[in-house]
Amino acid sequence: MPSPPETDPLVIRDLEFLGGMASADGWRPPVELPEIAFAGRSNVGKSSLLNKLVRRRAFARVSNTPGRTRELNFFKVNGAFVLVDLPGYGFARVSKTRREEWRPLIEGYLRRSAALRGVVQLLDVRHDPTREDHLMFALLAEIGVPTIVVVTKTDKIGAGTLRARLHALAVELRLDEDQVIAFSAETGAGRDELAEALVELLKQPEWRSA
Ligand code: GDP
Repeated sequence: MPSPPETDPLVIRDLEFLGGMASADGWRPPVELPEIAFAGRSNVGKSSLLNKLVRRRAFARVSNTPGRTRELNFFKVNGAFVLVDLPGYGFARVSKTRREEWRPLIEGYLRRSAALRGVVQLLDVRHDPTREDHLMFALLAEIGVPTIVVVTKTDKIGAGTLRARLHALAVELRLDEDQVIAFSAETGAGRDELAEALVELLKQPEWRSA
């Protein structure tokens, strides 16, 4: 259910596509605002989540344009922060070399962006984390960037199974269950919780210099 505007923690008044970054040393928009990056394997439900988060279809249109799916796409939100849509990683049906192509670009960005404030890492509630997911978690832990974990497509399973899955994922990934947000683009569940978590993250001091 959409929340009434007065209780929405993140009302999107303005959304501007800034452009895409196609290689680790390629063009990126000038660093002017704090950045929050969204990561997950392809098909995890990232575009659907972003559309729900900003209540617009612009993400799906831009980020799913051929050629853009392998780039990092930058969107300025409310003139206040930049949302970075990382390319989905880990297509199961391509060769190992192709499967690893995402690493230099994503890793280069995460290591180098001076404006990065946090990462929202997505996992499909129905699947165990893949090898690539574990690589991402290891990278995020090593860099030390604040990370929010969101499990997607929670409407696809019942409430009891969801509780069990959240517990199992928290144990496997050594997270506190409170750190994991259960989300559904279908029902909108978790949208406001995620919005609130982002607002809180943006209030924190820059962690690299903390
Ligand atoms: P992306 O590749 O990570 O951007 O994934 P998409 O957002 O394109 O979603 C992949 C598929 O999962 C699409 O068929 C979506 O309709 C479906 N999907 C995404 N989120 C949800 C959700 O919350 N619930 C359900 N039932 N399906 C979802």
